Amino acid sequence: MSKIVKSEEQWRKELTPEQFHVLREKGTERPFTGAYDDFKGQGVFKCAGCGEPLFESSTKYNSKSGWPSFFAPIHRTHVAEHTDQSHGMVRTEVTCAKCGGHLGHLFPDGPLPTGTRYCINSASLAFEEAKKKD
Ligand code: FE
Repeated sequence: MSKIVKSEEQWRKELTPEQFHVLREKGTERPFTGAYDDFKGQGVFKCAGCGEPLFESSTKYNSKSGWPSFFAPIHRTHVAEHTDQSHGMVRTEVTCAKCGGHLGHLFPDGPLPTGTRYCINSASLAFEEAKKKD
C-alpha cells in the first residue's frame, strides 16, 4: 500500500475543522453526536482523509457507546494499531494505514466472532452506499 503524506497545511485545506481535529490531532467527537452513530446504511465506510475503505456495514453494531462501532476492519492491513498512553490510560489507538489519520480506539469487549470493538469517530469516516442489486 502506498502511503499518503501531506503537510498539516494541506490537510487543513482539505478537511473540515472537525475532521482535521479528529484525524490529524487525535481528537474525539462527543458521544451520540456523530453522523454514523445511529446509522444503518448498507455500504462501506471509507477514511474521510484519503478514501481508503476501512469498515463494512455488515460489521457495524450498536455498542451503545455513542460512537460507531465495528467488530472487524474491512481488511487487517487497512488499519494500524498503536499503543496510546494518553489521558492516564493504556489503550490501543487505531489509525488509517494509508494516511495515518486517527480513527479511534479498539477494546476487547466486542461481539463474536472477533470479540473486538473498533470504537470509531464518525468524523473520521465517509460512507459510500452499496449499489442496489436489481
Ligand atoms: Fe486515510
